[in-house]
Amino acid sequence: MTIREEAIDYLQLIDGELRPAQGGGWIESVNPASGQVWARIPAGAADDVDDAVRAARAALDPWRSLPAAARAAALHAWAATVRENLDTLWRLDTTGNGRARREAEPAIAGAATQIDFHAGLAETITGDTVLVSDTATTYSIREPYGVVGLIIPWNAPLAMFLAKVSAAIAAGNTIVVKPPERASVSVLAAAQLIEKAGIPPGVVNVVTGEGATAGEALVKHPDVRKISFTGSTATGRRITENSVLNVKALALELGGKSPNIVFADADLDQAAAGVAAGIYTASAGQACIAGSRILIQKSIFDEFVERLRARASAMVLGDPLDAGTDMGPLAFDGQYEKVREYLESGREEGATVAFGGRYGRALFPADSPFAGGYFVEPTLFVTEDPHLRVCREEIFGPVAVAIPFTDEDDAVRVANDSGYGLAAGVWTQNLACGHRMTRRLEAGTVWVNTYRRLHWALPFGGQKESGNGISNGPGTLDEWLEHKSVWIEHG
Ligand code: NAD
Repeated sequence: MTIREEAIDYLQLIDGELRPAQGGGWIESVNPASGQVWARIPAGAADDVDDAVRAARAALDPWRSLPAAARAAALHAWAATVRENLDTLWRLDTTGNGRARREAEPAIAGAATQIDFHAGLAETITGDTVLVSDTATTYSIREPYGVVGLIIPWNAPLAMFLAKVSAAIAAGNTIVVKPPERASVSVLAAAQLIEKAGIPPGVVNVVTGEGATAGEALVKHPDVRKISFTGSTATGRRITENSVLNVKALALELGGKSPNIVFADADLDQAAAGVAAGIYTASAGQACIAGSRILIQKSIFDEFVERLRARASAMVLGDPLDAGTDMGPLAFDGQYEKVREYLESGREEGATVAFGGRYGRALFPADSPFAGGYFVEPTLFVTEDPHLRVCREEIFGPVAVAIPFTDEDDAVRVANDSGYGLAAGVWTQNLACGHRMTRRLEAGTVWVNTYRRLHWALPFGGQKESGNGISNGPGTLDEWLEHKSVWIEHG
């Protein structure tokens, strides 16, 4: 099976059929590297969500009743089709959101492996035997929720779709997915592969459209038993409010403003490479785990900023489809404007631009195909005031802020003084300090002498306002299973 890459209009997947929106509307997809429209997706709404949920309900009993080995076989077949189509899929993903090939291609290949991992876990779903009475057999089992909903953001849409959907259906659920309106094409293309792999119609449905219409309809739908959401903390709050209506289960993976802490005794070469890669080449800073607050010990502050400047100035900005490109554009016009606004507000608040700060036409010759793209160069603010907006708010672009600290206690204080708690990095050759910091930092993941390393076998989730869901790890299917207790009285 190959996907028609040249197609301009992409369709939703509902009950195994490719369908436009019932309302007939379309949303234009803009290639952020050029600013040109390259595709359209259906503007789905509540009626499309309704159809998709109905299809998922009809598919539920046959799917969950299959032997786990049969579900696993279908998932392995799906992973194989993703691999066969990898070249088309990463191109569509990158064209949709500008994420450089060197990030997007391995992420999607990794997600195919994650499908296989989830297929393996499908056969390991267990319960507990808890004998509480001499006259009864008592135990617990774990069951799929039923019809579940998945809402994902635009920074890594396809990898997230593959990873989350495969876990949900490995556990026996059927699912309705609402991908991001700015970058849905790769997801719609990959959805076409699902039934070729032998996964029955209705098990996976994809409805596209705006968050306020299609997204809200999915969250409020009474037949959807759980919502897994990845996106901003603001949207996570709104989804929480809406899901209260039906007492819906929720898993939230939200934003971050992660500290990357460099002690004076670190291997500074290694640290500069890791810190720069933790923000600038991390999808041009559009990564939830981007190390966007760089805390540097005072005695090496100026020297380390110089090292970062050298790294940043060597980065290649340009065509995200090119394997030699380090940083593509920001994903769409609204994000571009938001980041430019932070460049302004940072200066107005009194932060100093150590390097960078230019964007758009200033970065390319007038006749370059990228002159109309949404590019921002790697930028570093420096300040001693950790309370500025640029130090506290998630910018989601290639804009970091460097803040000095005096000692370990001071680093912990500044690092934890944030509403977010997604990730943190520590650079030191003193492993005793590294171990202490892993415990003292309020974050779902802490890296020491590395950054942004994730693995499907290691749990991932946020603390504080960064969310409450846990994905990945040996227990990852738990996110998609609920408990049932059984009491059989036999005298
Ligand atoms: P967003 O919150 O604007 O949108 C995410 C998704 O929610 C989109 O599909 C959108 O259509 C939908 N949506 C918007 N409003 C909705 C509503 N009222 N009801 C239902 N759905 C709605 O986020 P974004 O700007 O697309 O993504 C960036 C954010 O995602 C950043 O904050 C980033 O940190 C976060 N993120 C977190 C993780 C993580 O694992 N913690 C991973 C990636 C991205």
